[in-house]
Amino acid sequence: MEDCIFCKIIKKEIPSNIVYEDSEIVAFRDINPVAPVHILVIPKKHISSLIDLKAEDEIIIGKIYTVINKIVEQEGIKEKGFRVVVNCGEDGGQEVKHLHFHILGGKKLGLKICG
Ligand code: AMP
Ligand code: ZN
Repeated sequence: MEDCIFCKIIKKEIPSNIVYEDSEIVAFRDINPVAPVHILVIPKKHISSLIDLKAEDEIIIGKIYTVINKIVEQEGIKEKGFRVVVNCGEDGGQEVKHLHFHILGGKKLGLKICG
């Protein structure tokens, strides 16, 4: 996707603070963090949103949760807890149209924090 900011991050066309990368997944620090740990985990494949998932994407979604487990361990928030958020569509507050999973942690999160 030419004009997708997260695809540009994947292609290293714009800078980001990457904390994890493999052949299918990238994770980087959110530029505008709402918690001490705020990381976005994305598939390298451009999938616009949760509602655009195809049956073939089931595998990558499972892998993303495995990566989330690695990252929370790496970040030292595994034991104390964290939150994973996916915003979808206009009412869901999705600004970037490339599926992403917010990892939020490092403090006791209020019920209304959603990234
Ligand atoms: P959402 O509202 O769920 O679409 O979240 C998009 C997130 O992407 C927001 O938390 C932004 O702060 C974050 N974001 C936007 N541009 C960048 C960027 N260039 N690098 C890191 N995070 C970004
Ligand atoms: Zn994209």
